Amino acid sequence: TGEGILRRQEQRESAARTYARSLPVVPVRARGMNVEGADGRRYLDCLSGAGTLALGHNHPVVLEAVRDVLDSGAPLHALDLATPVKDAFTTALFETLPPELADHGRVQFCGPAGTDAVEAALKLTRIATGRHGLLAFSGAYHGMTAGALAATGDTTVRACADDNGGRVIRLPYPYDYRCPFGVGGDRGAELSARWTANVLDDPKGGVQPPAAMLLEVVQGEGGVIPAPDFWLRRMREITAARSVPLIVDEVQTGVARTGTFWAVERSGVVPDVMVLSKAIGGSLPLAVIVYREELDVWQPGAHAGTFRGNQLAMAAGTATLRFVRENRLHERAATVGARMLSRLRGLAAHQPCVGDVRGRGLMIGVELVDTEADPDDYGALPADPRLAARVQQEALRRGLIVELGGRHASVVRLLPPLTITDEQAEAVLDRLASALDAARS
Ligand code: PMP
Repeated sequence: TGEGILRRQEQRESAARTYARSLPVVPVRARGMNVEGADGRRYLDCLSGAGTLALGHNHPVVLEAVRDVLDSGAPLHALDLATPVKDAFTTALFETLPPELADHGRVQFCGPAGTDAVEAALKLTRIATGRHGLLAFSGAYHGMTAGALAATGDTTVRACADDNGGRVIRLPYPYDYRCPFGVGGDRGAELSARWTANVLDDPKGGVQPPAAMLLEVVQGEGGVIPAPDFWLRRMREITAARSVPLIVDEVQTGVARTGTFWAVERSGVVPDVMVLSKAIGGSLPLAVIVYREELDVWQPGAHAGTFRGNQLAMAAGTATLRFVRENRLHERAATVGARMLSRLRGLAAHQPCVGDVRGRGLMIGVELVDTEADPDDYGALPADPRLAARVQQEALRRGLIVELGGRHASVVRLLPPLTITDEQAEAVLDRLASALDAARS
């Protein structure tokens, strides 16, 4: 039974596991946005495999693509060999890329996880530039292997990775609500850009040119914080002028989630390296980096990985990329996301515990604050992680699965599939509003 499974996993599994681990759900069936627990209860899933399920659970085109490979007798695992399945995936992927990368780019399969692709990007830029050091941002999340972990901002998960993950120069990300410069808005973002340029240029306090800059267009785990387009363009100018490769981590923002196929597109910035995972595998593990061909200077065999030839993931990924493009789901994400944001802002207007509502497309965050406390150094009310945890529990009781994130785990995160219907979007917000009421009483 569900109870037995929960009890046994509680005893046997490490406490280090994350992603809504405290939720008493044992999912046994899932379709689209709907998940059914072992106890027969039904949920709307706004976690979507941490943003992996662009088309929701078990979408028919994904299942069909996987079945086709299984039925065809093709190898399921092909290491780095060229196969028709890989060819189809690479073609579908290149059709989505900015022309500069589609026409003059290379792909490196890195799988299975996003962190593997981040690691490959860091190594590639070190080899290509012959330099060390990395510019990374406060609040960043890039993964749990040494280099990616060192680049991650969260000190509770970073442990002592800085020692073996390479030298990281941490820069302030433009966080409007808790602006590190105390001014917010575009001015705060501009100060972040100036800080960055100063760190690189100041002859009496700057750093040697590093191997790369690594950033997220919208920080996901960091609390759903979108960077302004002009700030991204400034980062592009600053890095280009100093020959520092720009790596954009689109592991979570990619595949139409933010309203454009790749989140970075909207700013017009073309990165030197893009890190892609999660949704590109159509719910199965797959990760790649795509980069300008000039960077492809590593020797044959300079980077390995046993599980980067996963044919089922490539087939599921091809079906997903095609379906998203053919059905223009980036537009759907933009429209439904904007409607959800506006309704949430209405809710915030009469719920003082909602400090901030933000997001882009179907990547939405609701930051909860402690209304009893004094404003913090940023002029905002302090985060309220306990309230956020209660909202998550109350949401679950109302059949809604949401994730928490942000600097203090006080941001309720919504990452629904791009196939969410208008009715489902309304139901998500009804249940969230009701959960908020219940959590406060
Ligand atoms: N980069 C970003 C932006 C992510 O959100 C994540 C995962 N949440 C990763 C990298 C790491 O991916 P994985 O967990 O598959 O290693």
